Amino acid sequence: MSLDKMSQDGGIMVTKLDDLLNWARLSSLWPVSFGIACCAIEMMGAYSANFDLDRLGVFPRPTPRQSDVIIIAGTVTFKMAERIRRLYEQMPEPRYVISMGSCSNCGGPYWQYGYHVVKGVDRIIPVDIYVQGCPPRPEALIGGIIELQKKIRGESLLTSS
Ligand code: SF4
Repeated sequence: MSLDKMSQDGGIMVTKLDDLLNWARLSSLWPVSFGIACCAIEMMGAYSANFDLDRLGVFPRPTPRQSDVIIIAGTVTFKMAERIRRLYEQMPEPRYVISMGSCSNCGGPYWQYGYHVVKGVDRIIPVDIYVQGCPPRPEALIGGIIELQKKIRGESLLTSS
């Protein structure tokens, strides 16, 4: 948390409201419990005790209406595209999207001959963070979440419409 000033006596903190709100938001990112293919296994690994995403305040939620992040972990088929779009639209704003893995980023191994695969989830919904790999390791996903936290830290809710 970036605080402008903390007094030595009395524990009074002086900060901007934007910083306080952003600190709260970036410290409690709740992704939709949602995975599509093999990348989702690595995402589940990131939630496990070995990596413990809880310590970053990341708790998967079983409904998009309580979530502010959706991690697209896996191959996005045309059949699935409509469902992904619907989940995204059910999330309250501000909402964020992490594209995890080559399939979600650009079609992955299916980019040339996969007639059934969308060549990047950003053709359906706006993506904030791309995580590379096939599959990305849990550490890479955690790196993506930290990048998203940096992005949120720089936002201004009060001036945005
Ligand atoms: S990027 Fe690789 S690991 Fe991830 S869903 Fe596609 S094929 Fe599977």
